[in-house]
Amino acid sequence: MATGLAIMYHYVREQDEKRPHKGIFGLGIDSFKKQIEAISTKFTFCTVNEFSRMTKTDNKRYCMLTFDDGLKDHHEVFVYLKEKGIRATFFPITSTFDESKVINSHKMHLLLEKTNAYELGNSLNAFLENKHPELFQQFHVHDKYKRWNKQFGNIFTINFKFAIASLPQQISKKFLDDQFSTYYDSEEKVSKEFYLSEAQIKQMHDDGMEIGCHTHNHNNLKIQSSIQQQNEIERSKNILEGIIKDPVTSISYPYGQFSPETIQLAKQNNITSGVTTIQQINHSNTDKMTFGRIDIAYFEEKILEHIK
Ligand SMILES: [Zn+2]
Repeated sequence: MATGLAIMYHYVREQDEKRPHKGIFGLGIDSFKKQIEAISTKFTFCTVNEFSRMTKTDNKRYCMLTFDDGLKDHHEVFVYLKEKGIRATFFPITSTFDESKVINSHKMHLLLEKTNAYELGNSLNAFLENKHPELFQQFHVHDKYKRWNKQFGNIFTINFKFAIASLPQQISKKFLDDQFSTYYDSEEKVSKEFYLSEAQIKQMHDDGMEIGCHTHNHNNLKIQSSIQQQNEIERSKNILEGIIKDPVTSISYPYGQFSPETIQLAKQNNITSGVTTIQQINHSNTDKMTFGRIDIAYFEEKILEHIK
């Protein structure tokens, strides 16, 4: 039976003083290349779509490299992978290049680059106290105890990120939009620097990479209505297919969140494989709509151990 280790990457970048948004920390491109060298000694690389079609008689060990959010960084990754003859799967968010938007969680990263979690957390507390006092008790930011146990780092920062991720979406969006406009003049300009362009996505596809759906607005599908979920999937799939002129058959559920209805809707949109954030190694009998993935930022050692 085929084994499929799917690895999840986000930021992969050099900490270069000259590049935009240098304050955002990510995996260095050199460390990335070292990981790929190590993995390639034991695994055969393939895309998510390719792994989903492996038969039970295949006994090889495969590795699927997956890159969410369509970050500009991924173009540099792509150039390297192409040179090595490695095919990977990229999941861009279509509103980023189609409407020049910046999604909520990236707005938060970009704000943390300009200021710090204390400033932002205190502003959030004031915002909740004035505009949504009923939510203050549950979500105000403090440094008494961690609300997100698995996260490492400063308690106040962890709690700030937790509040942004857990508040009702329109409320955290309103707060982040207000803050964002005080630190950045143009969302459009930031979006163009931060995300892949249509032309880059097309080039990556034409050079053998798989392009998958990561929805249009990157909202949590699990808490959305059926109609909203359908719109999110269909719209992004149509936009991507218009660019690459090929069917899009894989999905990465934003934040790894989905419900049985999400899966049903994805299938109705002719999507045949999906990746989650469930931490598991896949096999040819794993449900193709909910493949597990390992986040290399937290589990690099475990993955490298698995390779030994
Ligand atoms: Zn994402």
